[in-house]
Amino acid sequence: MVSASQLLTQLKTHFGYDEFLPLQQEVITSVLAKKDTLVLMPTGGGKSLCYQLTSLCMDGITLVVSPLIALMKDQVDALKANGIAAAFINSTLSPAAIAQVQTQAKQDRLKLLYLAPERLALSGFRDFLRTLNVSLIAVDEAHCISEWGHEFRPDYANLKILRRDFPAVPVIALTATATETVRQDIVLQLGLRQSQTFLSSFNRPNLAYLMRPKSAAFNALSALLQNPQNRPAIIYCFSRKSTEALAADLSAQGLKALPYHAGLDLAVRNQTQEKFIRDEIPIIVATIAFGMGIDKPDVRLVVHYDLPKSLESYYQETGRAGRDGLPSQCLLFYSYGDKIKQDFFIDRMENATEQQTARQKLAQMIDFCELHTCRRRFLLEYFGEEWKQENCGNCDVCLTPKEEFDATEITQKILSAVIRTGERFGMSHVGGVLRGAQTERIHSLGHDQLTVYGIARDTTEPELKQIAGLLLARGLLAKTGQQYPTLAVTQAGRAFLRGKEKLTLAKPVASAPASVPATGDDSAYDQALFEQLRLLRKQLADASGVPPFVVFGDVTLRQMATYFPLSPETLARISGVGAIKLEQFGPEFLSCIRSYAAEHGLQEQPIPARRRDRIRTTPRTGSTLEETKSLFLQKLPISQIASRRGLAESTIVGHLERLVMAGEPLDLSDLMPPPERLAKIEEAFKTTGELALVPVLALLGEEFTFQELHMVRMYLHQHNPEPARPN
Ligand code: ADP
Ligand code: ZN
Repeated sequence: MVSASQLLTQLKTHFGYDEFLPLQQEVITSVLAKKDTLVLMPTGGGKSLCYQLTSLCMDGITLVVSPLIALMKDQVDALKANGIAAAFINSTLSPAAIAQVQTQAKQDRLKLLYLAPERLALSGFRDFLRTLNVSLIAVDEAHCISEWGHEFRPDYANLKILRRDFPAVPVIALTATATETVRQDIVLQLGLRQSQTFLSSFNRPNLAYLMRPKSAAFNALSALLQNPQNRPAIIYCFSRKSTEALAADLSAQGLKALPYHAGLDLAVRNQTQEKFIRDEIPIIVATIAFGMGIDKPDVRLVVHYDLPKSLESYYQETGRAGRDGLPSQCLLFYSYGDKIKQDFFIDRMENATEQQTARQKLAQMIDFCELHTCRRRFLLEYFGEEWKQENCGNCDVCLTPKEEFDATEITQKILSAVIRTGERFGMSHVGGVLRGAQTERIHSLGHDQLTVYGIARDTTEPELKQIAGLLLARGLLAKTGQQYPTLAVTQAGRAFLRGKEKLTLAKPVASAPASVPATGDDSAYDQALFEQLRLLRKQLADASGVPPFVVFGDVTLRQMATYFPLSPETLARISGVGAIKLEQFGPEFLSCIRSYAAEHGLQEQPIPARRRDRIRTTPRTGSTLEETKSLFLQKLPISQIASRRGLAESTIVGHLERLVMAGEPLDLSDLMPPPERLAKIEEAFKTTGELALVPVLALLGEEFTFQELHMVRMYLHQHNPEPARPN
């Protein structure tokens, strides 16, 4: 048996990584125990390593079946760059080249052999396989075997024969498709025995999900793309024509962009894809035809310039960003007009069931766009995964600081109206009743006679919708039905109506947030050095005819540009630098770092032991007050504390206030308003004679902010602790 520490040593030696990603070690241990194993992980979850490392711990050869012929060469190149003996056999090779690989395999000179599934139909080829000492069979993209999956490949039926030919060899099946039916079908079709299944979370913490209204979209997009940190980028458009137009417009701005769609010559498409993979073109403007054969790990931005047709498409397409785990953005430009465009196509569908499904999927996509609650949560719950965190800290909703307000009364009104109307309507109708609308339907149902009719006239319709959305998220309301959803009040909602508790909610905003918050800006690394290292990587890659990421990934280059390793020993400690790459590329990278460091007077920085090379989402350790306090003590401005923590500024101010009231001697002087304003506010507090803020603000007028008042209230407490207690 291989011990855990031996596995870690192998991981560092062959792949250069210090730690396993979630579930990798468990999967490897299961396969090494010769169990059939099913692995369900999102894109970027690190599936390949699960069989690649395992194969190194076994005698004999691992067969890897993959449908993506275009990717085989890159994968094999990547393994070879790490000094691992690997080869592939598919239709792109000449018969002579195939014969050569077969000889290598027979002589036991290969650890991994990649195969296209159709090979297995050839009996001569199977005879060849039977001469090998096969230790493991890996089935990549395993959902292709299921007719329930969206990419069913009849070729995959051949895998059953493989299983029969090697009854004692364990099988590892891997996929990023996790629906229950597909999962069960994989087990059935591959004949997996007493298999172990590993299902990881499908959350992609490094991806920021951002939404913007689609106005002045082109300017926003080109501004975003000017920043090299947002490239490479993929921009998805609805039509072929628009990909070409947008690519041309971007090019006119000096941005190198190429279009990609199924109407272009195959040769042109391949060339474009190749240029993108090899970092020659940083921007692709594509229809959804682009992506299947793309394994580029460092895509920093995926834009949906037009509305995707379903959340499945959205998740899959955005999933192509940030496979390497570095912060990356997914931006969707939303306009309701796009929905209408898509309706046009749906209306013309001939099959009624398909039409119905398409409508539903589109409706859910629209719900997602119009959310005022966490987008990540909605997405994961859509795919059946429970998500508990209130603030993901990495979607536009969670990143937009929200003002809070006392929502007790409006909540009571909404819940009552849902109950009074019989829990049979959606929010448009209930909202109409609350606002005292004069519609035909309200009259005919007699809802204008209800006591709740017109009790929320001063709340706008969008506001009511947003609040209802928040109540759904809080579990006070529940929604049933897909096409015409109706609202009902939950147990918790009823308890709320009976109880005396207060409820605070985020204040509704007038429209979707208009700006993209800055995210993932980890400018902690030296960007100029990073760019130099990228150039060097490109040269070395071209010299060996491989894509740049085969040399080193962005994670590795960023670490180099953070710690400035100056000796082979320290370079070896950088994530992604294994023994072979150290030998092969180490000298060049070291000399580049050394001369840059000398020129800029930089010292080598200590590399923390076993540093995680993935960017984690905000760790939720310690109490929330402690976290705010520690950031405050680092002298960060409130706005930054808020965005770091994914909380509203008002919440942070609230934290500070609680800390001050609890007697923390925080130094607030930097946050105080200028003396003359301070004096006015102090005066107003004295005049009203109380500590409530609303009367003070009423007295002072609109040019003062709540935040200032909070600060002064804290100040008054610190300088005059006795009477100051906020209510
Ligand atoms: P998947 O096939 O699940 O989409 P990959 O196998 O392509 O994922 O891995 C995604 C990225 O994560 C790759 O860039 C890979 O090099 C990197 N990776 C895999 N395992 C580790 C690890 N243990 N530590 C750091 N990075 C890893
Ligand atoms: Zn969120």
